Amino acid sequence: MSNVLVFVEFNEGKPSKAGLQALGAAHTLAKQLGGSTTAIVIGEGEPGDLGKSGADKVIAVGGDAVAHYSPDGFARIVATHAEAVDANVVLASATPMGKDFMARGAAIAKCGLAADCTELAVADGKVRAIRPVYAGKALQTVEATGKLWATLRPNVFAEVSGNGSAAPERADAPFGAGDLKAVVQEIVAGVKGKLDVAESEIVVSGGRGLKDPDGEGKQNWNNLNALADVLGAATGASRAVVDAGWRPHGDQVGQTGKTVSPKLYIACGISGAIQHLAGMTGSKVIVAINKDENAPIFKVADYGIVGMVEDVVPALTTALKEALGS
Ligand SMILES: Cc1cc2nc3c(=O)[nH]c(=O)nc-3n(C[C@H](O)[C@H](O)[C@H](O)COP(=O)(O)OP(=O)(O)OC[C@H]3O[C@@H](n4cnc5c(N)ncnc54)[C@H](O)[C@@H]3O)c2cc1C
Repeated sequence: MSNVLVFVEFNEGKPSKAGLQALGAAHTLAKQLGGSTTAIVIGEGEPGDLGKSGADKVIAVGGDAVAHYSPDGFARIVATHAEAVDANVVLASATPMGKDFMARGAAIAKCGLAADCTELAVADGKVRAIRPVYAGKALQTVEATGKLWATLRPNVFAEVSGNGSAAPERADAPFGAGDLKAVVQEIVAGVKGKLDVAESEIVVSGGRGLKDPDGEGKQNWNNLNALADVLGAATGASRAVVDAGWRPHGDQVGQTGKTVSPKLYIACGISGAIQHLAGMTGSKVIVAINKDENAPIFKVADYGIVGMVEDVVPALTTALKEALGS
């Protein structure tokens, strides 16, 4: 029997979409392995009924020591409970938080970590994790000799929903608040209600081709926002745009930004540098709008429109409004 422990991340008191997807993946894997799924929630008052989303058991760790996120604190808690439930596989989402503490947790448990996985499978009774490497140019298959710790790319694994029920078991952190090496003191919220590029099902991204929003590019960025509004999409950006201070870093897609896997990714005025592609080639459908027919973005695009963003983006918005009746 092989049990799976999964950390379910919460945002503003609710399980995040990525957290529920990780729980779904854990549930599917545990079933294949003939084991059970334990969900662990840290620092949240009320974890709700994660049994409906695939958990057989829920552990809710609370108390002053986890009132704020701490990488070493979360790592210690997950490693402690992984041992307690005899987990062979330990999972979390590959979000900034998951990426941050899971490597520390794996080190405490003396295990390797398969980061940013896009597939989990069982072969000959062993768990195999598949993860893109070299900026998405190759896929690596990782098989753990012992226990496997892995982070899962958001928007790749499916949530599950059922009639299960699992009342949370309360637990305290195995340390005091004063024992932590680093604690997050303040979280500065982004624009309220703004969709996160990493979680959204549709992303509309702008590049340097849109030009300076405080100058000649003002209308282009308004057009981009209007297109995103019609589609209910999050807005993303290339690094060139973020480095220029035109958009916040939270919007950046790519190797040094966020990895996105939406159903639809629309790249507007983005050349398609390898570092940008590293963050978005996992998208199900890619649409590129660029005035240069030789732009590398067209090599990964399912649909390419050669044209000026000034013309194409508003025309697309109008056509979509009509088609969607909005
Ligand atoms: C270590 C490292 C990490 C990096 N990490 C990232 C990362 O995470 N994300 C990222 O995006 N980049 C990253 N970069 C930067 C990357 O190499 C590129 O410089 C960047 O992606 C370019 O952004 P861009 O496509 O917006 O700009 P450009 O390359 O300048 O492309 C602009 C495009 O707009 C088109 N265009 C211009 N005007 C119009 C118009 N009116 N209508 C239509 N099209 C138009 C042009 O044809 C061009 O293709 C990284 C680089 C390094 C070295």
